[in-house]
Amino acid sequence: MSQSQNNYIVDSSSSELTTLSAAELARRIHGGEVSSREVTQAHLDRIADTDDVLHSFLHVGAEAALSAADSVDEALARGEQPASPLAGVPLALKDVFTTTDAPTTAASKILEGYMSPYDATVTKKLREAGIPILGKTNLDEFAMGSSTENSAYGPTHNPYDVERTAGGSGGGSAAALASGQAPLAIGTDTGGSIRQPAALTNTVGVKPTYGTVSRYGLIACASSLDQGGPCARSVLDTALLHSVIAGHDPFDATSVDESVAPIAPVIEAAKEGAEGDLRGLKVGVVRQFDREGYQPGVLDAFHQAVAQLTAQGAEVIEVDCPHFDDALAAYYLILPCEVSSNLARFDGMRYGCRVGDDGRHSAEQVMSLSRAEGFGPEVKRRIILGTYALSVGYYDAYYLQAQRVRTLIARDFARAFEQVDVLVSPTTPTTAFKLGEKVSDPLEMYNFDLCTLPLNLAGLCGMSVPSGLAADTGLPTGLQIMAPAFQDDRLYRVGAAFEVGRQ
Ligand code: GLN
Repeated sequence: MSQSQNNYIVDSSSSELTTLSAAELARRIHGGEVSSREVTQAHLDRIADTDDVLHSFLHVGAEAALSAADSVDEALARGEQPASPLAGVPLALKDVFTTTDAPTTAASKILEGYMSPYDATVTKKLREAGIPILGKTNLDEFAMGSSTENSAYGPTHNPYDVERTAGGSGGGSAAALASGQAPLAIGTDTGGSIRQPAALTNTVGVKPTYGTVSRYGLIACASSLDQGGPCARSVLDTALLHSVIAGHDPFDATSVDESVAPIAPVIEAAKEGAEGDLRGLKVGVVRQFDREGYQPGVLDAFHQAVAQLTAQGAEVIEVDCPHFDDALAAYYLILPCEVSSNLARFDGMRYGCRVGDDGRHSAEQVMSLSRAEGFGPEVKRRIILGTYALSVGYYDAYYLQAQRVRTLIARDFARAFEQVDVLVSPTTPTTAFKLGEKVSDPLEMYNFDLCTLPLNLAGLCGMSVPSGLAADTGLPTGLQIMAPAFQDDRLYRVGAAFEVGRQ
């Protein structure tokens, strides 16, 4: 069955400039064939044409984007070298990174209209690289969710079928890429929020190794799991953006002081040289993620992807990661615990919405009223869960136990990586579901991130790369590639070869 009746957004492109890769746009801008202003304007036009339907953006900053583009054009006209390989190519930023020139809301009512006094490190790096920021993209409130339906400002729609979700929490960034509203985007991945929306929208998303992309100015969901990362429509574009945003940051106490592996040359070699030759590579198929219960079209696409990797020379073996079955339970204890502590700062005193400040209520009542009004139901659910799990008498039974499971999951990965270079799985158990389909059942929603959660618990790196449309629904599927910590370059080598092999 084809979904083409709802597919018009992907098919209709307003300008060639909104269909090109970021690498190609950069080549044309740096070569003087087109200006950054023209490219940026074309994407702003595309947003104006399509965002009424898609709702990828919570805020569009046309003026700021065009002025950043002009700065790039002027520097190039003066004969200066481009500030980065992506200078002049515009980007969509998930609205969970602070920006001084646009509101930062994390899709929550509690931060409605909030203007940050400082730029996140990721924002700063984008500006220094000459990347115009088109606007801030939609997400589930505080990045908690799998469909953007927890956004206080309404959901994002999937450009492949506008009645369906573009995934979550980073559905806005993914929809922006898939519809040609932006050639580059930034997401964050706490349990899958970069990879899962990528899989549902035929785009590429990477969750870098924990500690390699600064969290300074990234509004925290669960600090031990959150990681910003690059999103684009090709593996090369993702790699180029990864190199821009990664690196040590003294402002982030968990930032790792290790140099970032040179990613872009790996891709160039994979593309130009061996044409996707994967001889010598050992790929592990995780038995726990290749099972009945997944949508048949998703499993078929996955098996075809594995067959393709084999045809390209990789040696494929099945590996067992038994504790992955407990990842969901562990994640949904650890995350709420961290959430309950991180979100304590939103008390109506310093940021955003304040309710009941009329002289008749005590400070404590104002805090309580502000939080009752400002947070949505899913955020409240997790704050309550986390507070309960951390309370006296339950801490050992819940939080500590979940941390033990986390260690076992990390050990499963370590054992698997003794046998193989990368692991693969479907990124999601099904293709994009209908908006409204899972909202009344939080557990159903949580289950959707089954394949992506273990990686965050272990702090490793992973990618979702398009693996074709599922035969049964006609909607995009993604291949998840997972690699050990600090081996992010492996994701790109395998992802680029897989992408070349599919052409
Ligand atoms: N869907 C998962 C959750 O709700 C993951 C979210 C994320 O990665 N930010 O927590």
